[in-house]
Amino acid sequence: MRLPGLRIGAVVLLLTACAQAGERCALVWTRGVNEHPEWCEAFQKAGFDSLTVKLPPTARDTLWWTNPSSLDSTNALLAEAHRTNLRGYFQIPLGMMTGTKFGPRTMTAAGFTESLLACPLNEEFWEKYLIPTLSFVARKSLDHPALKGVILDTEQYYGKERSGAINEHYCFCDACFSEFFKSRGIREALPTPAARQPWLESNDLLAAYWQHLEDRTREHFQRLAKSIQEIAPDFEIHFYIFEDTWFYRGLLKGLSVTKHPVFVFDGKTYNGFLKGWSKEAKSALARLNHRAVWVPGFYTATLNLRALRINIRKALEDGGSYWVYNEEEPFPFAEF
Ligand SMILES: [Zn+2]
Repeated sequence: MRLPGLRIGAVVLLLTACAQAGERCALVWTRGVNEHPEWCEAFQKAGFDSLTVKLPPTARDTLWWTNPSSLDSTNALLAEAHRTNLRGYFQIPLGMMTGTKFGPRTMTAAGFTESLLACPLNEEFWEKYLIPTLSFVARKSLDHPALKGVILDTEQYYGKERSGAINEHYCFCDACFSEFFKSRGIREALPTPAARQPWLESNDLLAAYWQHLEDRTREHFQRLAKSIQEIAPDFEIHFYIFEDTWFYRGLLKGLSVTKHPVFVFDGKTYNGFLKGWSKEAKSALARLNHRAVWVPGFYTATLNLRALRINIRKALEDGGSYWVYNEEEPFPFAEF
């Protein structure tokens, strides 16, 4: 396959005011990267300092985090990333693939049970999936210097009512709701699923419910971060999508126990940099985790190379971090 390198290099090198490593991020998230370690050099020349490493196909339907060889097919990419001085991050999905099969299902505000999505707070989801998964990748990082951490992909792709961020659309499941009742000493029977949000509203308890879910989320992420630090003290945990909702507030507060900046990979900017949203997002992040770094993302399906260049320049002027999301193969920069 033709290397995209020279063309990207010529175009994007203009933009490289970049990134003191570790505090800022210029990441490429692209399909096909596992099969093409040779792309690393072109990415690096184009000004990127990081890339996502995709879970291999064999890891999609099995308990891959229990199998020491399940990530072996990514070794060549990690080796090349190391040689070209790129940081590698595994994408860990919270809303698709095997991990979503653990524990009680999540329930939406309408009282609909999402059969393919786990309740994001249930103990089984954390104990059998999230903590073992990150522990597994953290142990692998000890043998692969380019493997710096994970990006939690929080998009709820398998939702039947909707996909997207974990927001006030969730979670009204029996477990979440009964724990809330217990925490407040409420002894009455649980309302029927569709009546739960109206019940909270009519009892003036909706804000208290979101606070309760946020607190549980913060506790889960603190526990996760601490257990990962015991395996690999410098291992990084970042995430994709941000909305100022109970889940992301709890996530950012929980990750404040880590020693690294927390990169927040935003997708609201896929069609172009948004100055107003940049201010809003950065001010929310500053309130929730003083080391959080807002990273606007640009999507190659909606931005041509010229538009991409303009938007990356805006991101560099605004804070210095950006990421590019690409689903096309081969990596399309050479084609523009
Ligand atoms: Zn729940």
